[in-house]
Amino acid sequence: MGNEKIAEVIQNIGDLLEILGENPFRVRAYHRAANSIRGLTQDIDKTTTKKELDAIPGIGSGIADRIMELVRTGQMEYYEDLKERVPPSLLELMRVPTVGPKKAKQFYDELKITSVDQLYEAASKKLLRILPRMSEKAEQNILDGISQLRRYHERILLYEAYPIAERMILRLVKESYIKQADMAGSLRRMKETIGDIDLLVSSNQPSRAADFFCSLPEVDKVLAKGPTKCSVVVKTGLQIDLRIVAPKEYGSALQYFTGSKEHSIHLRDIAKKRGLKINEYGIFNVKTDKKLGGEREEDISELLEMQMIPPTMRENKGEIEVAIEHRLPDLIELKDIKGDLHLHSNWSDGLSKIKDIVEFARSIRYSYVGICDHAERLKVAGGLTPRELARRKKEIDKLNDRLDDFVVLSGIELNIDSKGEVDYSDEVLEEFDIVVASIHGGFSQSKEQITNRTLSAMNNKHIDIIGHPTGRIIGKRPPYEIDIERVLNEAKNTGTFLELNSFPDRLDLKDDHLRMAKEIGAKIAISTDAHIASQMIFINYGVATAQRGWLSRNDVVNTRSVDELLKCLKSVV
Ligand SMILES: [Zn+2]
Ligand SMILES: [Zn+2]
Repeated sequence: MGNEKIAEVIQNIGDLLEILGENPFRVRAYHRAANSIRGLTQDIDKTTTKKELDAIPGIGSGIADRIMELVRTGQMEYYEDLKERVPPSLLELMRVPTVGPKKAKQFYDELKITSVDQLYEAASKKLLRILPRMSEKAEQNILDGISQLRRYHERILLYEAYPIAERMILRLVKESYIKQADMAGSLRRMKETIGDIDLLVSSNQPSRAADFFCSLPEVDKVLAKGPTKCSVVVKTGLQIDLRIVAPKEYGSALQYFTGSKEHSIHLRDIAKKRGLKINEYGIFNVKTDKKLGGEREEDISELLEMQMIPPTMRENKGEIEVAIEHRLPDLIELKDIKGDLHLHSNWSDGLSKIKDIVEFARSIRYSYVGICDHAERLKVAGGLTPRELARRKKEIDKLNDRLDDFVVLSGIELNIDSKGEVDYSDEVLEEFDIVVASIHGGFSQSKEQITNRTLSAMNNKHIDIIGHPTGRIIGKRPPYEIDIERVLNEAKNTGTFLELNSFPDRLDLKDDHLRMAKEIGAKIAISTDAHIASQMIFINYGVATAQRGWLSRNDVVNTRSVDELLKCLKSVV
């Protein structure tokens, strides 16, 4: 039984307990343990002693016992009992945005609904609005949520696709008869969700390349295999398509298969006006049909006398015009990031000790971190009381005393409540080096209300950063209604930074909002919101999203040294 399977059982127990209305701390403990298992590198079923299980952060003794039972017998009595009390198919309902455990149980109790299809039917027949605590609007939200779910069902998150594709590319380029290998399509453009996973290689021995690809250890099933195209399904269930081209056509094929479609069409039109033709085989003179290039991707931009456009910008949103004028922004890169400003430690609901966070941050060459545990009012996420904060401060001070080339910033993630107020008094807030404030509830308020809550937080003289500003969870929860333009203007006026939360299912602010921020002149902090130290590597997806929003180094505050950063934070003034 693999980690993923075990994590699923533990996650389901948490969800079932939630439906049953059990203690939220218990629910959280199961969800936390499931996350912890997913983040492990060792196989749980090879962990034979309870002591070893206990040592894994996030897994308490009681849950460890249950996991032992599951690994040993392939079953868990507790889970089986729960499944008798609640039909497990109710868990499926909770995947619909706006349907939480209470509503799932209500729909089951009152209408015997156990599947998303049945829920859709009931909502279409206007049966939901008449239930207690439901309304016409809530019913419409459920219909919208189901359409959203179905739309996203065909797409996967960038971070589910990227590591597998990266691993396969690394194996492919090692073979001597494979000249080049790259990701293509929306994956190379680093879109937040991916339709198909496309890879491209060049080789003079295409059949051999195809054989090798189809026999990679990740491959579970081969759907099609030929000398120009292969399709496989990998063990996680994702489909991956490989194209094989001749080395002399690689550049034009890479351009063609990277897209976007709109970008390629626009580029072809521009070529046509200059008497050139571009396709996946090369770039040609229309009159003479002579091939002018195509071996390198740069051949195309050179022949069109424009700058080479980074893949993350190829969405036909004006980048071609800017490249022709040689005015492309100098995009931010991963190496520009000097620290992560939104991290949770085991003082709140994170799983890593602060010293382990520091160690990991140093291993990826950061020079500072902001430890922003949850504030008091988010009890369920282990929010800290002022007394606990004082103890945490001592630990941070001690660490800082020992470190001479690294700084731990003592921070907090406040909750912006439904009136726009936050957890602590000014006296408590003064003690922090850095303050993030975020909305964690009251999502259904009007656009005016939510915008005003955010504006009043930005006008708090202690708040430096607004965390995950639109609150979306990709594929699960739509963004709350918020007037982004007003927020961006106020951010600029008050010197507050807006977060680009790089957690893979958030990416919030998203690319279009970031581009607006740049135009308005509001500054961005790219953070990960990591709850386990190793999740700090998600910064990769944040930087890619920043590139998609055309951001440069100067638009992002955590590209600065710690001294420069501290100068522009409000809390220090
Ligand atoms: Zn948060
Ligand atoms: Zn957070």
